[in-house]
Amino acid sequence: MTENYTFSFWEKESFLYTQDFIIIGAGIVGLQASIALRQLHPDARIMILERGALPSGASTRNAGFACFGSISEILDDLQKSPESLVADTVKMRFEGLSLLRKSVPDSVMDYENSGGFEIFRNEDDLKKFVDAIPELNAKMETWIGLKNVYGLDESIAKQSGLTDVQGTIVNQYEGLLNPGKMMHYLLEKCDALKIHIMFGSNVLHIEEQNNSCDIQLEGGKINAKKVLIATNGFAQRLLPELEVQPARNQVLLTNPVKNLRLQGGFHLDAGYFYFRAVQDRVLIGGGRHLAREEEATDAFGQTEFIQNTLMQLLRTHVLKGQDFEIEHSWSGILGIGSQKKPIIQMTSPSIGVAVRMGGMGVAIGTLVGIQAAEMISLC
Ligand SMILES: Cc1cc2nc3c(=O)[nH]c(=O)nc-3n(C[C@H](O)[C@H](O)[C@H](O)COP(=O)(O)OP(=O)(O)OC[C@H]3O[C@@H](n4cnc5c(N)ncnc54)[C@H](O)[C@@H]3O)c2cc1C
Repeated sequence: MTENYTFSFWEKESFLYTQDFIIIGAGIVGLQASIALRQLHPDARIMILERGALPSGASTRNAGFACFGSISEILDDLQKSPESLVADTVKMRFEGLSLLRKSVPDSVMDYENSGGFEIFRNEDDLKKFVDAIPELNAKMETWIGLKNVYGLDESIAKQSGLTDVQGTIVNQYEGLLNPGKMMHYLLEKCDALKIHIMFGSNVLHIEEQNNSCDIQLEGGKINAKKVLIATNGFAQRLLPELEVQPARNQVLLTNPVKNLRLQGGFHLDAGYFYFRAVQDRVLIGGGRHLAREEEATDAFGQTEFIQNTLMQLLRTHVLKGQDFEIEHSWSGILGIGSQKKPIIQMTSPSIGVAVRMGGMGVAIGTLVGIQAAEMISLC
């Protein structure tokens, strides 16, 4: 867009008229919030403003783990936060996943209940977490009503061809899905519900007027009675005071690997690293905990250090001794904070926010979108 670009009279009249609701950001949260708003307000004018040609944050760039917590992550959270907060977050992820599966058919997004496996490379760590299984299973049963969430799995590492692994703890209720197909379906649903999505619309700032907001785009303004900011890792650009920081996550995808045996989603180091099969390729990502400062950014990009670390994991544990090449790599931006719970709140009478999905927005995003829609409808 050139500096001198302004909207024409015709564009203003036919495209940029006042909306009842404007949602900023077409990630999973923005799309699910818009769909929920349409159910609450069948005749309202609802528009989504998305700066990218596609949704361009995390929702189409993630690993597709349908997960709600590995054992080491939950125990780590319990040491840092009150139990009620950890329980609430786990409940939200679990409920979010079941709402997602009600809104996108399993067959459409290739959902498989393949289990989530945490691998341990150190025998002492493995013992510590195996000892904690009964207590954590009891807590999970109280929090989400599921029995025996965690268990020691003695065969999956071997069956999947992993090497130098001391043991694996499974969360039997976790699964995998295809985030591209999930988001494609949600975009089509928005279209069918007459939710207008304007791609290429970078929101520069929002000005609150009497009972409405002017949203500044490159080219001019558009007015809305209510606005929801669903920009997650980019949220501080519009609301600098929000307690949500960007965190970049890098991903590698190999070429097709002969006789690949990986089954299910794997993670290690409290979920900071993760890998899975995508057909006959391996997707691996994470590692931001090893370069926190460098990865605390909302700029896309890949670094030599993280890419080498991920390659090393592939060579030592996942594809040891096998020929493979990296065919594709990319990054996405998370929104994180001192607490893992999302922020869903009104920041003024006409502006709401729904951000800070952490590393589990696939799980939590649908519920957050629905709650945010109810929030901005009610106020
Ligand atoms: C590499 C990676 C792997 C992950 N793996 C998993 C996983 O396996 N399982 C899981 O549950 N979660 C995973 N996550 C996290 C999950 O993807 C996110 O939590 C979730 O997608 C966040 O959704 P969202 O809608 O809040 O944000 P986003 O998907 O980031 O959407 C925000 C949108 O806002 C747009 N935007 C930003 N600023 C503006 C502006 N000023 N104007 C207009 N539009 C704007 C962006 O372009 C973007 O499309 C992963 C994340 C990454 C990066």
